[in-house]
Amino acid sequence: MKPGVLLIEDERQIHRFLRPVLEGHGYRVEAAMTGEAGLAAAAAKRPDVILLDLGLPDLDGLEVTRRLREWSRTPIIVLSARGREGDKVAALDAGADDYVTKPFGVPELLARVRVALRHAQDRSPEGSEPVFRVGDLEVDLGRRRVCRGGKEIHLTPIEYRLLAYLVRNSGRVVTHPTLLAEVWGPTFRQETHYLRVFMGQLRRKIEDDPARPRFIRTEPGVGYRLLDE
Ligand code: CA
Repeated sequence: MKPGVLLIEDERQIHRFLRPVLEGHGYRVEAAMTGEAGLAAAAAKRPDVILLDLGLPDLDGLEVTRRLREWSRTPIIVLSARGREGDKVAALDAGADDYVTKPFGVPELLARVRVALRHAQDRSPEGSEPVFRVGDLEVDLGRRRVCRGGKEIHLTPIEYRLLAYLVRNSGRVVTHPTLLAEVWGPTFRQETHYLRVFMGQLRRKIEDDPARPRFIRTEPGVGYRLLDE
């Protein structure tokens, strides 16, 4: 059974461009041109991934995200215009899983879809504490141990909580407010300078060149993403 992608987008050009690309990569494609049609298609067709434009003629993409999240955990990848960082943060915090910035490249979009599908699968068996590996970085969430090239790295409790949250959401962008709330607590959602300081410390410990990080990427104005491939 081919994985299904639902594209909710009002620009016909994007449908014309994306449908053959997605079908050519083995996906079933369902299409909707409005938010209401998208919500109906999500319920009727049960896609495996939803690609959602934020600027729709009838409903705001944020509203579509919230309404989907009332009953569905299907991964949502938001398609957003450049320079709308605030919209991206709001969409991710409303329950979207990721975003791509328009105009986007096909390899980037396909990579995001693969990550989303992988996460949807990983989500099912609860309680297994995996060992995360990317390159020579290894994070053992069960034993709370972080190694690079087999050598243990000592992290402070805050640094570890930051890294562990990114590991549990690897491949996806995590917004500043979410990270702050998860690591420091809900009253710290706006304290972005805390994040900058501790992310700097964490990167100095795990990256070869903290100015050009290989593991934890900065998503400008939005948050951070721990690469998982
Ligand atoms: Ca649009």
